[in-house]
Amino acid sequence: MPVSSEPSVQNSPPDSDGPALPINELFESLQGEGVLAGVPSVFIRTSGCNLRCWFCDSYHTSWEPTHAWMDLDEIVDRVSEFDANHVVLTGGEPLIHEEAVTLINRLSDRGYHITVETNGTIVPPSETAIDLASISPKLASSTPTPERPPAGSDGVDADDAVDDWQQRHEDQRIDHDALTGLINHFPFQLKFVLTGRDDLPEIETLIDDLRAEAETEITDTDVLLMPEGQTRNQLAETRRTVAEMAIESGYRYTPRLHVDLWNDAPET
Ligand code: SF4
Repeated sequence: MPVSSEPSVQNSPPDSDGPALPINELFESLQGEGVLAGVPSVFIRTSGCNLRCWFCDSYHTSWEPTHAWMDLDEIVDRVSEFDANHVVLTGGEPLIHEEAVTLINRLSDRGYHITVETNGTIVPPSETAIDLASISPKLASSTPTPERPPAGSDGVDADDAVDDWQQRHEDQRIDHDALTGLINHFPFQLKFVLTGRDDLPEIETLIDDLRAEAETEITDTDVLLMPEGQTRNQLAETRRTVAEMAIESGYRYTPRLHVDLWNDAPET
């Protein structure tokens, strides 16, 4: 099973002058998705996101953040307690925090391979030591609607949550300048969460646009199709369809190993 390292509970930025980040989870597991699926990795999950996908499996890091602030020295120390030499910085959207860049560079200086899981709406400085920008642009099917309110909105006024976020999410979810900036500056994969066949035309249009706009070549195997599903049962309904779409399109299929192995358990 994955191994966690509990952050000390501190619900506001520490008093020290040093940089800090809101950390929701810090644990060792297997990378579950993308070109590095199966690689033992330390996951650092920050709180906070600028989007509100209805299917978000990390809603507790975005609109119901449950986190502890940790200064960067403490984070680096916690990472070093594990054996893995791959680190995945994820969220939420980790790049909304300027301190994420400092953390990436510090960990890279110590020899770690750094993957950043991002929704592709923010570009860090080009000298940031990112080994793999795992870019997951959010499709129209991610937008919350009254029929599909954001996960975790039980117990709050779901209509308010949808009203607040539907337009904001729609306006921000695709940023061509940010996407081409990430593609041009860093090794990358473009990972799409698919809810069904209706998502494919939007992906193909976006890839065509990005191929025309970016200086870096985007091959079919840089484009990964991933079935939507936060539990084994949900995945069972979508993965075969998405696998068939990968065969038909030439894009690459990516599993969700952590769901296959540990279902929807936290810290996986
Ligand atoms: S971009 Fe990622 S973290 Fe943010 S709401 Fe969507 S799925 Fe959740």
